[in-house]
Amino acid sequence: MVLEHEDVPKRARAFAKPYRVSDGASFRLDDVDPGDTGDLDQDDKERAKDALQTGIDVLAALQDKLYAQDKWAVLAVFQAMDAAGKDGAIKHVMSGVNPQGCEVYSFKAPTSIDLDHDYLWRTHKHVPERGRIGIFNRSYYEEVLVVRVHPELLERAKIPPRLVGKRIWEERYEDIRNHERYLARNGVAFCKFFLHVSKKEQKKRFLARLDDPAKNWKFSASDARERGFWKQYMAAYEEMIRETATEWAPWYVVPADNKWYTRVVVAAALIDTLARLDLAYPTVSDAQRAELAEARRALLEEGGGD
Ligand code: ATP
Ligand code: MG
Repeated sequence: MVLEHEDVPKRARAFAKPYRVSDGASFRLDDVDPGDTGDLDQDDKERAKDALQTGIDVLAALQDKLYAQDKWAVLAVFQAMDAAGKDGAIKHVMSGVNPQGCEVYSFKAPTSIDLDHDYLWRTHKHVPERGRIGIFNRSYYEEVLVVRVHPELLERAKIPPRLVGKRIWEERYEDIRNHERYLARNGVAFCKFFLHVSKKEQKKRFLARLDDPAKNWKFSASDARERGFWKQYMAAYEEMIRETATEWAPWYVVPADNKWYTRVVVAAALIDTLARLDLAYPTVSDAQRAELAEARRALLEEGGGD
């Protein structure tokens, strides 16, 4: 499965396609099996790791062009239940890219300053600059996930009560769609991931965190509490995807029970996102070329050694 680099974007698109949702109307979460490994099985794990390495190299090359061209920005959003592998996927998939061209932000529970503003304020500040890949580890989508599952959080948000009506969630989906449309029209290419882990696999990973002292720090009692709201979370995720999957900001619903597979799908989707942009190194004008020639001549003619 080690691929020729030129073939990779085409293959990446085909590989990520089954998980890409760009029109949510008919999306059902039940149709996605968290244990799915596509055409691969456990014996293909090593080959998948090689493919991931190739993908990482290709992503780095695309990012180099993105940075040099300085027109598009790429925003990758990661959402998932705890222990679905967000952090690991981000770490592995982005391991080859130039850190100068990449920014990762993790959004935790909002601070009191955040709560003094509209909910898109804190994330909007971190939308990547042109030429960069921005990664949101959690995002404004928490506002229709954790906040939907625990509506008491809305009260803390200090919104004037008469603005919080029955249609609050529909209104939020609409606002998010419009926000993403606006950013897309300004050159932000979206790639949104829901890493779909099963409840059973989450339990296994939580137990591993409890059993291994080196992983203890990753476990928090609140993660285990949220597990009790699994059904509500899945309903919230499903509706979120149905309502906010668009051609300009598609969701990738990625099977997440096998980390090696999750990472290949995430890399493929990111490659496809960059490959869809008209990336090219800036061309040098005749005047600039003459300037470069002049600089070269001056360097070669420098006296005084070295
Ligand atoms: P890790 O995977 O390392 O545990 P994490 O992203 O889960 O990282 P935590 O500090 O454990 O980080 O959790 C962040 C918490 O903040 C989550 O429970 C999440 O639901 C919550 N959170 C994020 N955004 C919001 C929001 N807008 N409103 C309320 N809670 C939020
Ligand atoms: Mg956590």
